[in-house]
Amino acid sequence: MTDIHTIIIGSGMTGLSCGLRLAEAGIKATIFDKGRSIGGRMATRVSPEGFEFDHGAQYFKAKDDDFQRVVEEVRCADAVSNWGDGSGDQHLVGTPRMNSFPAKLGEGLSVRQGINITQIYRDEDSWSVHTDDDVFDAENVVITIPAPQIPALIGMGHPLSERLSAVKMTPCITLMAAFSGGQSADRRDIGLSDEDLVWIANNSSKPGRTASDCWVAQASPLWSEARIDLPVKETGKEMLSMLCSKIGFDPLDVKYVEVHRWKYANVSEPLGEPLLKDLTNSLFLGGDWCLAPRVEAAWLSGRAIALAIINKGCPEV
Ligand SMILES: Cc1cc2nc3c(=O)[nH]c(=O)nc-3n(C[C@H](O)[C@H](O)[C@H](O)COP(=O)(O)OP(=O)(O)OC[C@H]3O[C@@H](n4cnc5c(N)ncnc54)[C@H](O)[C@@H]3O)c2cc1C
Repeated sequence: MTDIHTIIIGSGMTGLSCGLRLAEAGIKATIFDKGRSIGGRMATRVSPEGFEFDHGAQYFKAKDDDFQRVVEEVRCADAVSNWGDGSGDQHLVGTPRMNSFPAKLGEGLSVRQGINITQIYRDEDSWSVHTDDDVFDAENVVITIPAPQIPALIGMGHPLSERLSAVKMTPCITLMAAFSGGQSADRRDIGLSDEDLVWIANNSSKPGRTASDCWVAQASPLWSEARIDLPVKETGKEMLSMLCSKIGFDPLDVKYVEVHRWKYANVSEPLGEPLLKDLTNSLFLGGDWCLAPRVEAAWLSGRAIALAIINKGCPEV
């Protein structure tokens, strides 16, 4: 058994924000994540042929002062840019890929990818964190995975599981398609709320992208819910046809197609507060699902958890 002061489960924006703030305060933390790459839903898929798609978050905003400061630091290191649309609005993206932003944030932290946490238990005065083939001991545990997946780790009967049941998250089926034909236009159709496709964008028009004609389309929560368990080949065909009719491409010009099913993509009914903690003041739950379906909300939740850990033992004023 290995002893670590604070274990953070999840290397998405919530986990990274928490880890960075703890590191600033000199508190040792290790982040475990079951995925191959850092960043969670700030994700980029690279095909064997070299086509690239940001298939999770499409862009993000930074309004909070502290988050803006961090974004500025990363911008100086060329890992974030504004995907300007001429309106002056902020459309921040990681460069050269969306997951370059979380990767940059995680550089100085202890992050271990490819480790699936199966359960956590409270022992006398610490936590046992179980992976597929190991056990870690920690003083604090921070869980930043989507709310509906947390009861499986802490136990369905845990008092916090009831609070989590109020949080609702919606799925999103995402199509990634690369075409031949040099259609490298900057195009993004946002807020197609009455349609089956709610977002269409030419990923290649984002700053720093080298692969051309890589398009991303996202289906509506309703459409996705109805098809989340269908074979991806079927949904991919249907979505490709919808995308092509929207952007005027011939489906025969497609060079590469892939589908990703996000079961818990966006929170539709958030918790309404930045974190949950248990009575021992050593188990903390957070994520975008606490506040809003946005990268910045995840950041704020992670920071609030870090502050709760830093301030442990300080008398409340
Ligand atoms: C399709 C889509 C489009 C979006 N578009 C936008 C957008 O345009 N703008 C915007 O601001 N936001 C957008 N979002 C939302 C944004 O991506 C999220 O709000 C944010 O990334 C959530 O960060 P998080 O750290 O809370 O969770 P996540 O990023 O989900 O991180 C949780 C991590 O926990 C890991 N994990 C889960 N279970 C375990 C386990 N048992 N053991 C170990 N690790 C585990 C996962 O691998 C994951 O890396 C979008 C999301 C999706 C899916």
